[in-house]
Amino acid sequence: MVKYSGRPIEVLIREGYYKPWERQRVRVIKGEEMFTKSQSWQIEGVLRMLFHVLDPEVAKDPEHLIVYGGTGRAARSWEAFEDIVDAILTMDEDETLVVQSGKPVAVFKTHRMAPRVVISNAMLVPKWADWEIFWELEKKGLTMFGQMTAGCWAYIGTQGILQGTYETFAFAGEKYLGGSLEGRLILTAGLGEMGGAQPLAGKMNGAAIIVVEVDKKMIERRMRHGYLDTWTDSLDRALDIALRAMERREGISIGLLGNAAEIYPEILKRGIVPDIVTDQTPAHDPLSYIPEGMDPDDAEKLRDENPDEYIKRARMSMKKQVEVMVEFKRRGAIVFEYGNNIRKQAYEAGYRDAFEFPGFVQEFIRPMFEEGRGPFRYTSLRGEPKDIYRLDDELLSTFSDNKRLTRWVEKARKHVKFQGLPARVIWLGYGERARFGKLMNSLVRLGEIGPMWIGRDHLDSGSVASPYRETEGMLDGSDAIADWPILNALLNAAAGATWVCVHHGGGVGIGYSIHAGIGLVLDGSPESELRAERVLTTDPGLGVVRHADAGYERAKRVLCEKGIKSPSIKCS
Ligand code: NAD
Repeated sequence: MVKYSGRPIEVLIREGYYKPWERQRVRVIKGEEMFTKSQSWQIEGVLRMLFHVLDPEVAKDPEHLIVYGGTGRAARSWEAFEDIVDAILTMDEDETLVVQSGKPVAVFKTHRMAPRVVISNAMLVPKWADWEIFWELEKKGLTMFGQMTAGCWAYIGTQGILQGTYETFAFAGEKYLGGSLEGRLILTAGLGEMGGAQPLAGKMNGAAIIVVEVDKKMIERRMRHGYLDTWTDSLDRALDIALRAMERREGISIGLLGNAAEIYPEILKRGIVPDIVTDQTPAHDPLSYIPEGMDPDDAEKLRDENPDEYIKRARMSMKKQVEVMVEFKRRGAIVFEYGNNIRKQAYEAGYRDAFEFPGFVQEFIRPMFEEGRGPFRYTSLRGEPKDIYRLDDELLSTFSDNKRLTRWVEKARKHVKFQGLPARVIWLGYGERARFGKLMNSLVRLGEIGPMWIGRDHLDSGSVASPYRETEGMLDGSDAIADWPILNALLNAAAGATWVCVHHGGGVGIGYSIHAGIGLVLDGSPESELRAERVLTTDPGLGVVRHADAGYERAKRVLCEKGIKSPSIKCS
């Protein structure tokens, strides 16, 4: 039973934001009234982001505390969730809550500028860092998979990944297809929380995009959110709709009900080679990827009854899918892995050529990382859409010479429906983030917008070690060096982030990555201006240093031009 103390939780329950007797009912909190004892936005912001990531409009499976990405959770159990909420409601402004893999273990007196929460998720000693051991420990209730932003309370719905996906497709068009995706065909799979951004991102680029998804409910969800234009369970019909739109050079997004391991070979068999092929099934976790020949209900049954058999079948299906992706590449398609580790799964199932196509960061994103550029995101903590639109206007005037950014803001305004707290994601680099953060804080101070939360994806410049994703093919071979995310978290804690997290396994699965995240609340005070200036400098700044240190020339240039001090990188 819940053990909340004091008035705030009674209000929270009375208002229906959380019903302990119906545990799946967590609803986003909006408005100006604060529920926390501290009456400080630095703490209230934490509470609101936790509730936001579990809102049914945001989370994939809120009943099980799963936010996105296979089984990426916000808290280890409902009991842990209640204890976290209790701690946040009652803590003081000079205390820090310590969360160990989704369970709150301590509240210590620290100081006002220290983080209000520090979180570590799914960390294992390297020798024990694999899924089998993780699942054993998870079953004993000792740990939790936090994915990237789920366990860091920094998920903003599918928009969070939308801009990155939009830019990735645009880069592919610029690099290989003469600059435009109009009249082009994209084939991909997975309409989950991340993958669900693909149809809209493809359409926003002017392409015809077919997304294969095995679960009808996920297709319906995407139709409801406006991320899909249409859907069918017939491959012929999907191809027909796509080809007609391509002739008219019109963007269209089509959901295709089916299994990627079956549909990809079917398309190849018909001699059709899409222009771009990728995939966002949850391949990082062989217990989440659905093997061929099964619907989600069969899969759930087999997963419970015989997990070993399930994993074997899932890996064989992934192998089959990757073999076809390689064949598409050999026939001229642009093929890349989209951050889910499917090549490694296929390789382990015995397919030696699995790495014949590259990962998306190495292929398209790295130059942005060299400048400390990455997915910076923010939400209106009072839940006011017009605060986001006001900031859109500020972006369009402050960064008017950044055409990539202004084009995105205009498109996002038109196409993106908010989920949970109204939010925006934009890719900003070193210098730009601190500038925009301070501007935001001054608008809060003037009362033109309400308090804001700032965070970022863990897919970012200096906060990740992930050799099959963010750090694949680093110039100096430092792909597996995992000091950088740890340094990122330590530095951001020192700089005054409102919360800091370190995670293991996000994106690519246990054993394959270490990464760090942040949350920063802007309440308009001079104190939060200081936090913004420092954190929004250290966070992208370390990304520039990480890439300069690895020998990237553009990163060295940015470091030297912007005056980032480094004892080991010499500027002439
Ligand atoms: P999710 O679990 O929310 O959704 C996955 C979807 O794939 C589900 O709808 C499921 O029904 C479907 N699916 C499973 N097996 C399938 C199959 N064989 N054929 C067709 N559909 C199938 O996951 P998500 O949050 O969308 O993430 C997808 C993958 O992307 C994960 O591996 C995640 O780790 C990775 N990821 C990518 C990025 C990125 O930047 N691109 C970021 C974070 C995570």
